[in-house]
Amino acid sequence: MKQWTTKGGQVISRLSHGMYNCFLVSCRGRHLLVDACRKGSWKNLCRELDEQGVSGGSLAGLVLTHTHYDHAENAAAIKERYNTKIIVHQKEADYVRKGENPVIHGTLPLTGWISDRLSHLYLSRFFRYRPVDGDLTIADRYDLSPLGFQGHLLATPGHSPGSLSVILENEIAIVGDALFGVFRGSVIPPFAADEKLMVASWGNLLKTGCFVYLPAHGTARDREALERQYEKYKRKYERF
Ligand SMILES: [Zn+2]
Repeated sequence: MKQWTTKGGQVISRLSHGMYNCFLVSCRGRHLLVDACRKGSWKNLCRELDEQGVSGGSLAGLVLTHTHYDHAENAAAIKERYNTKIIVHQKEADYVRKGENPVIHGTLPLTGWISDRLSHLYLSRFFRYRPVDGDLTIADRYDLSPLGFQGHLLATPGHSPGSLSVILENEIAIVGDALFGVFRGSVIPPFAADEKLMVASWGNLLKTGCFVYLPAHGTARDREALERQYEKYKRKYERF
């Protein structure tokens, strides 16, 4: 299992399930789960959480970086098993309460073609998930110290209206789908609700000073990779 440790001793474990990552932040026997992956990963996810010593009393919450099905499908089951808080941006609290997905558009020629034709239909009909109430709803920023962690949640909208990133000690950011780690030399996700807003969020992520970015799909990206893409896409929008 791939792990990172911050200067303050917080350990981030990547729980990787094929195409999907979720992350466990652990510090002094307390844990915070970031995203909950697909239903088909449930048994593996539980086994990994057991191995990390996560129990009902020690899981401070589940942060949903956003409410697409591949991040939120197990949210209701996590709440049941661990009796923990669901933490979600206020703009997506209604989606998770209904088990629905925020709509996206393609950011690349192929995904643009697909999403224009299929995304509304597929997301609304085939990818609904078990609804669950959010217990803690976040606006722009939330300090994690009441939950026992050094860091904050930062709204990084664009991929979806209420995308959140977990910023740990301004060193490591867990970013959900705000950026992608799948394509060589690129961090742009294939889909976004608002691409321009997403690029502005990249600028806000860079302002934190973080030097490691952990996306939900693919591998970690460094600061230089994000800086290059930010400059490129910022120029694209400056032309309009
Ligand atoms: Zn997504």
